[in-house]
Order: sequence, then structure tokens, then C-alpha cells
Amino acid sequence: MEPYVIVGASLAGAKAAEALRAEGHTGPIELIGEEPDLPYERPPLSKGYLQGKTPRAEFEVHPADWYAANDVTLRLGTAVTAIDPDGHTVTLADGGRVGFAKLLLATGASPRPLPVPGGDRPEVLKLRRVGDSERIRAQFTPGARIVIVGAGWIGLETAAAARLAGAQVTVLEVAELPLLRVLGREVAQVFADLHRAHGVDLRFGVKVAAVEDGGVRLADGTLVPADTVVVGVGITPNTRLAEAAGLTVENGVRTDEHLRTSHPDVFAAGDVANAFHPLFGKPIRVEHWANALNQPATAAKSMLGQDAVYHRVPYFFTDQYDLGMEYTGYAEPEGYDEVVFRGDVPGREFIAFWMSGGRVLAGMNVNVWDVVDPIRDLVRSGRPVDTARLADTGVPLAELAG
Ligand SMILES: Cc1cc2nc3c(=O)[nH]c(=O)nc-3n(C[C@H](O)[C@H](O)[C@H](O)COP(=O)(O)OP(=O)(O)OC[C@H]3O[C@@H](n4cnc5c(N)ncnc54)[C@H](O)[C@@H]3O)c2cc1C
Repeated sequence: MEPYVIVGASLAGAKAAEALRAEGHTGPIELIGEEPDLPYERPPLSKGYLQGKTPRAEFEVHPADWYAANDVTLRLGTAVTAIDPDGHTVTLADGGRVGFAKLLLATGASPRPLPVPGGDRPEVLKLRRVGDSERIRAQFTPGARIVIVGAGWIGLETAAAARLAGAQVTVLEVAELPLLRVLGREVAQVFADLHRAHGVDLRFGVKVAAVEDGGVRLADGTLVPADTVVVGVGITPNTRLAEAAGLTVENGVRTDEHLRTSHPDVFAAGDVANAFHPLFGKPIRVEHWANALNQPATAAKSMLGQDAVYHRVPYFFTDQYDLGMEYTGYAEPEGYDEVVFRGDVPGREFIAFWMSGGRVLAGMNVNVWDVVDPIRDLVRSGRPVDTARLADTGVPLAELAG
């Protein structure tokens, strides 16, 4: 019997192996990943692990003995160089071939490089793998000059970890505020204020021209002194295998709501998948931990011939200093017409709702807890909501989600 093969041994891949067994698959499973480490979760790499607080074992997807106990063949440090969907084989970097009955692509995404002269200098670091986090942490000494390029989630979390370690931190961002396109002006301002309050030198509307001896050169000629430069300018889905095999690739590997690609025996899940989402009526690619955690169950069922659909509302979280937030829903940068606030925005204890035509597209709870379920219900219902009542902390959210 040919195995079910999973390419990419991280969160989505390891969860898919688990889900195949949970669904009763008794045949062979091969989980192939190019990283040398046991599958692990990445969020701690820019939070607790980067701060030296969270031990490594706490964020492994499964303990080391789980794979043998569940009869999952784990091939680590092994890159897949090609897939042949019609021939039902994958080719490994050493030239070996593995046949498959069904294939799951869980190849995730890779950080974008800094596309300027000096962007590949040794002091320029990226953050995706456990080794990256360790390399960056080693630079976070009191007084070290850390320059972060990009005020996205990774950049901001890294800035927080560096400040907590006593480093001097400058964040360079081409937009006017951090996460402006994603969050809109008011909420982006909350994150800017938070970091300024913790002593981060935030510089907006600046363009990096080069990295050179002594620091980062901006387009206006300014040299920002740096010992270490951390780049967080977004990620690109790892679609090379799918593209070369002729699968449909558009902003990731395109799948239907069952997570099946354009080939009937090949599936995709996690950061790499641009999956049709029935709630939003279009394909969306979600670069969130919860997506990589939950999509594999649907992919596994679909691989086993069950009629499974992935329709979860996207969910994301971040922790920076004493701010914790959860974001539930999906609002595109220009896709909302209003942001409604509920609670104390200056005090950083509030919920923000991104609205379109009076409907809630997404909600973000900042230092307010146990509200994800009603926010999800509001998003899912798609019904118009009275915005005055939505803003009123006296009205229970569950009542509005009704
Ligand atoms: C530092 C950091 C912090 C994050 N924090 C948060 C957070 O707070 N909240 C949140 O919701 N999300 C967060 N995320 C995002 C979350 O970690 C990702 O959404 C999740 O890791 C995606 O999992 P994945 O399995 O789809 O892909 P990945 O984690 O990218 O794993 C893909 C794996 O496939 C391997 N691979 C790729 N190509 C091949 C090949 N050809 N052959 C073999 N193996 C291959 C890769 O090496 C990798 O191991 C964070 C991500 C990072 C990097």
C-alpha cells in the first residue's frame, strides 16, 4: 500500500499526521520536512522563546516518541525537490523517490529577504525557524543597537523582546504607522503608542536603501546605527513544488473548500494554502497559527474520501509587553468602512470591530478576555448590528450575536 505523504513537517504537517490516524487511517504515513528539528510551533519564537522564558519542549507539536508510537515515518532534514501528481511520487534531495496514494502540501512560507544592497550581510537576521530565534536572542544584550525593518507582527514582537532584554531598539517602517493597512489608523496608533511608551524609537515613512558598515542607510541619506538588523517584511508561500508540478498557484496553492488542489490526489493546508472559504465566498490564505492547527483535520478527512469543508473563522493572537490581543474574523485592508470601539482605547482595554455595511467582519479584543466566541458568532452571522449597542460595554456581546 502506498503511503499518505505529507511534505512539510511543521504545525500543519504534524497535525495532519495526527488527524489521519484519528480518522482511522491504518496505512503508512510519511511526514517529510527539510528542517532538522521535530515539528514545532512558531509563535514562541518571537515571544517567550525569544525572551528566554519558554522552554523548547513546550512548543513541540508532539513529543519525540509520538511518531513511532503512531506509526508515522518522520524524515527530518529531508527536502522534497519535486512532486509528480500523476505519477504519484515525490523526489527527495538525495535523489530518492517515495510513492504516494495521497499527498498533502504543508510547505508553509518563507520570510522575504531585504531587497537592498547589504541585505544579505551577516548582521542581517530573519525570524522563521528556531535557530533564527536563538541567533537573534544572542544579540539582545543591554545597550545593543537593534534595528528592526518592518513594523508588522513579527517586527513588533521582536521589538518588545529586545526592549525587555535592555537593548536599544529602532523600528523602520515605510508606512505611516505599524500595521496600518491591516488595522486602520486608530488601532495602528495603539500599537505605535505602546512601543513608544516602552522606549522604542519608531520611525515611519522611511525607506531602507542599504545595510552597510555601521548600520542601515535610509533613502534620505540618514545612517541608523545598528549592531544587528532584524528583517520582518512579510513572507512568501512555498509554492515552488506545486508550481513546477503544474498545480494551480495563485497567492499560494489554490484549493477548494475541501482543501483539495487542482489535482484530485493532492491537498494543501496551512500558510501555503489559498483555500476557498465558504463564509467569505472566495479563496483566502491565512498566515495564522490557528489555521495551521485546524485545517489539517479537514485535509485529512478529505484525503480519506470524507465530505469535509473548512469554514472556521480566522483567529490570530499576539502578546507584546503587557498587551495581549486576539483577532477574530477577516477584514481586508480596503474591505471595511468603519471601525467601532467598545471600551477604553487609551487604557488599552477594548474591543475594535471592523465593519462593512453595518456587519462585523472582524473583532480584536485587547486585554479583554473570554469574548472570542461571541465575536466569532457576530462575524459568522453576517447580520447588520446596531453600532451604538456594539460600542456600549453595558450590552452583552452574546446578546448582539444572538
Ligand atoms: C516568529 C513567528 C511568530 C508567529 N507568531 C504567531 C502568532 O502569535 N499568532 C499566530 O496566529 N501566528 C503566528 N505565526 C504564524 C504561524 O506560526 C504560522 O501560521 C504557522 O507556522 C504555519 O504553519 P505551517 O505548518 O503551515 O507552515 P510552516 O510553519 O512554515 O512550516 C512549513 C514547513 O515545511 C518545510 N518545507 C517547505 N518546503 C519543503 C520542501 N520542499 N521539502 C520539505 N520540507 C519543506 C519548511 O521547512 C517548514 O518546516 C508566527 C510565525 C512566526 C515565524
